[in-house]
Amino acid sequence: MSLNEIRDRLQREISQSLTALNNVVKTTGLPIVNEQKTNNPLWVDVREIDLRYQIPVKKVSKFFEGLKEGKVLATKCPKCNSIYFPPQDDCPKCKISNLDWIEMPKEGEIVAFTVINVKPPSFSHYQDYIVGIARMSNGVNVLAWVRSKEVRIGMKVRLEVVKREPEGYLTYELIPIG
Ligand SMILES: [Zn+2]
Repeated sequence: MSLNEIRDRLQREISQSLTALNNVVKTTGLPIVNEQKTNNPLWVDVREIDLRYQIPVKKVSKFFEGLKEGKVLATKCPKCNSIYFPPQDDCPKCKISNLDWIEMPKEGEIVAFTVINVKPPSFSHYQDYIVGIARMSNGVNVLAWVRSKEVRIGMKVRLEVVKREPEGYLTYELIPIG
């Protein structure tokens, strides 16, 4: 089955189950349906949510300072040399904090990717986008948007600081070379 067929089928299934749910609410006054496999009653509620993220970033503030300087930073454990990206301030293997900061290499190669054309509501204002994983030259994998219409496995990319629009904030993306 192709990706488009899977997408169409999913959208059909979602709209069918929404219609069925509306009928149940109309006839019973409650959004409770029987789950088919187990025959257990399920409360089903569907609503749009507005998410606001507040993530403490004090321990990784160097990372954001790096973005302002056009650098993508990772952390490295001084004891076991593990590199962490996205950066984290603790090494779970050695149980130590205050890791060293290093700059990620710019060169990498796409090892996996997916085209996002069915977007979560909070991402619906973006054009279709590609999320990829690149193996960087230091062996660390980076998950990021790929700034390209076409991607293939093995494609050489650069890890670059970019501005994400329309939000206008700095982030990093993988940009094909050439
Ligand atoms: Zn360590």
